[in-house]
Amino acid sequence: QLSKRLARVGELVPEQSRLADIGSDHAYLPVALVLQNKLDFAVAGEVVSGPFEAAKKQVQKNGLNDQIIVRLADGLDAVEQTDGITAVTICGMGGVLIRDILEAGWNNQRLQGNECLVLQPNIGEKPLRDWLTVHGFTILEEDILEENNKIYEIIVASRLETRVAYSEKERLFGPLLLQKQSTVFRKKWLGELNQRETILAQLAKASGDQTVRIHQIEKEIAEIKEVLS
Ligand code: SAM
Repeated sequence: QLSKRLARVGELVPEQSRLADIGSDHAYLPVALVLQNKLDFAVAGEVVSGPFEAAKKQVQKNGLNDQIIVRLADGLDAVEQTDGITAVTICGMGGVLIRDILEAGWNNQRLQGNECLVLQPNIGEKPLRDWLTVHGFTILEEDILEENNKIYEIIVASRLETRVAYSEKERLFGPLLLQKQSTVFRKKWLGELNQRETILAQLAKASGDQTVRIHQIEKEIAEIKEVLS
């Protein structure tokens, strides 16, 4: 049984993809998708030996050794050209780490640029959307959900023929999440607003010149208020 978060990621993976799940931990996602007959080939990549062994056990236990290859590798180095990967999932990590994994894969051509990316950053969505924008990806789908008092965002992106230039605001809030303005989205940004207001109050009491920092936070507060209004 997948968590609500991973189940939603799984729904967003295109049917019959050849999937690379990077940072797969127990390989729960590829195992579930193959068992659902949504996929029949996946690579589960892990850089740490404990989770790598756990992934191997999970694949073996489910009798999926012919469909899921588990590899001990850093990021997209888990992908071989002959795998013919068409979709990549990178979930449950910070957005900056996901961005760095994509950047390394882009530079060593493990990432071809024609894959569908399904990304689930725990934090740091903005730097991830910055990377996607710079590298010509279009955000095809976004979702935001809450599980165990945590809010998660999911971003689905592919490179299409026409490039979209996302604004700073769209890269911060998510272009599609911004349009949908779901209850969870509003809850997240209300929390972000409160956090910034607390920081602002602390900065007002802090010693030294805080002008630059105060201006930055005030700008962010105004931006969030505008979106929530
Ligand atoms: N993807 C699963 C999920 O969403 O539930 C597991 C998330 S777990 C918090 C993050 C996993 O990513 C860990 O098992 C960690 O070892 C792995 N990881 C971190 N950096 C990695 C990298 N550069 N390459 C491959 N795996 C990595």
